[in-house]
Amino acid sequence: MLIETLSVFPEMFEPVMSASILGRARSRGLFDFKAHDLRDWTHDRHRTVDDEPYGGGAGMLMKVEPIYEAISELKSQSDLCPPRVIFFTPCGAPFTQHVAERLAGCERLLFVCGRYEGMDERAYSLADERLSIGDYVLTGGELAAMVVTDAVVRLIPGALGDSMSSVDESFATGEDGGLLEYEQYTRPSSFNGMDVPPILLSGDHAKVDAWRRRNAIERTCRWRPDLIESAGLTEQERAFALDLIARMHPHEEME
Ligand code: SAH
Repeated sequence: MLIETLSVFPEMFEPVMSASILGRARSRGLFDFKAHDLRDWTHDRHRTVDDEPYGGGAGMLMKVEPIYEAISELKSQSDLCPPRVIFFTPCGAPFTQHVAERLAGCERLLFVCGRYEGMDERAYSLADERLSIGDYVLTGGELAAMVVTDAVVRLIPGALGDSMSSVDESFATGEDGGLLEYEQYTRPSSFNGMDVPPILLSGDHAKVDAWRRRNAIERTCRWRPDLIESAGLTEQERAFALDLIARMHPHEEME
């Protein structure tokens, strides 16, 4: 997989892309990363990428021409397949684990990062999709691109190594997925009067699995009841969850 970014701060990416799991996945060739400088597609002496908005208002907007030129060039490289072009904007579709799983299947991704007050709307005509990483406003799309890269790369087979798994984590979308992850504990078994649930020390794998499943449902009901509706639950689990939610959140209506 090749992941590329187009932004005015290409230097922001390298520390994140070369550390820890991303760095290892990259050096093992599981993905390649390239940060492009949008200013390389400007033609004036000041390498201008922004301008004032028509209609007035505060702040500057990113100009359409450099973005258009850059993406057109990156799309038409004959030695590479054309990238899936993703623009980051708070007005985009919410980025979720489901989207991460879909993007992990792409051969080439190009993340386009805004700055200032955002972009001339015409730039989006080159977007395959627009994504938001949450309902808040960042100063630029670079952090969003790093968040999405991190979530996508760890799904590439082999990226996490043998000792970690992305299969039954929070939000994983398998048949019985869509829940928050169950509680986990490591040594010591007792700390400051807080004990590890005894079943986890029992060595009985079936019981441990049942406990974890129930715990994941309980946690999801407490912290993210909105996920229960689309989670992969049996009839019995669903009834249990809805009853729990009614008791935990007595004043909130479930859709
Ligand atoms: N004026 C815009 C915000 C611009 S923020 C608005 O109100 O919608 C500048 C840039 O930061 C955006 O172009 C986008 O690339 C990035 N950005 C900000 N918040 C983001 C978010 N929640 N998700 C993804 N990208 C975001």
